[in-house]
Amino acid sequence: MIETKNSTRRVTVISSISEMKEISQSFQKQNLTIGLVPTMGCLHEGHLSLIKKSLESCDKTVVSIFVNPTQFGPKEDLESYPRQFENDIEKLDEIGVDILFHPSKEEMYPTGYKTFVEVKNITEQLCGKSRPDLFQGVATVVLKLFNIVQPYNAFFGEKDWQQLAVIETLVKDINLDVAIIRVPLVRENDGLAMSSRNRYLSVQERQTALSLSRSLQKAQDHIRQGITSVKIISNLIQQNILETEGTKIDYISICDPLSFKEKEQIRGRTLIALAVKVGPSRLIDNCIIEEI
Ligand code: AMP
Repeated sequence: MIETKNSTRRVTVISSISEMKEISQSFQKQNLTIGLVPTMGCLHEGHLSLIKKSLESCDKTVVSIFVNPTQFGPKEDLESYPRQFENDIEKLDEIGVDILFHPSKEEMYPTGYKTFVEVKNITEQLCGKSRPDLFQGVATVVLKLFNIVQPYNAFFGEKDWQQLAVIETLVKDINLDVAIIRVPLVRENDGLAMSSRNRYLSVQERQTALSLSRSLQKAQDHIRQGITSVKIISNLIQQNILETEGTKIDYISICDPLSFKEKEQIRGRTLIALAVKVGPSRLIDNCIIEEI
């Protein structure tokens, strides 16, 4: 256990896997349910909405902060990923989290580490296409966290829609005893989807980044007016983003929200998902069109 300087601190910071397991086992012996909120830190209101759900529904809440190296590709932002540990601890303290699990890279992946988990068929599309290492890394670290923390409920945000589908599939396919709780996407007042990566953005880039949520909003307005052609809606989104200088589209996908199969017509429940590079940040956003 890490000694904390602040005597009023309530959150216990654990960095060792064996110690985390002991604590989880002791909670279970006392019949206390554990809620787990896995994060990579640099916490914002999006993360806090997951944590609040856990605090409301579980006896003990464990938040993990671990910038997971196995989900980053060699040219991605692992080294520069924003880290604000002291600030995060203050937020966790304030909100009343019980345990912060904060293992090192070596603790999670010691020398000689060999095992990875792969969820097939729903990881090749959207983010998996441009980030081929992402979902194997995510599935692996989430399974490890589940084994270590033994949560009753685990909370994930719909901001990362495909990630949620991958985790739900993992849990179902390998019969894990944990309930996955979906939490809606949280936005800034001006519509920007909250993300730790928003911190990379300059004032100008932050304005540019609004083109993601704006284009999704416009798409939803058009769909409400009866336009169901994916081609038309996709072009509309593309024009809206590209007319904003400083953007580079990675993908625009209008697809089935479970299989990620591209659609030609917007019929039945539909996911519209975007990934766009704005300055140094690759940002994602999405919305769901309910059955029409
Ligand atoms: P991250 O730290 O980015 O890996 O995110 C940790 C968890 O917080 C994931 O389940 C994310 O989906 C969730 N999350 C991140 N941003 C948001 C947001 N704006 N709204 C809802 N959930 C979010």
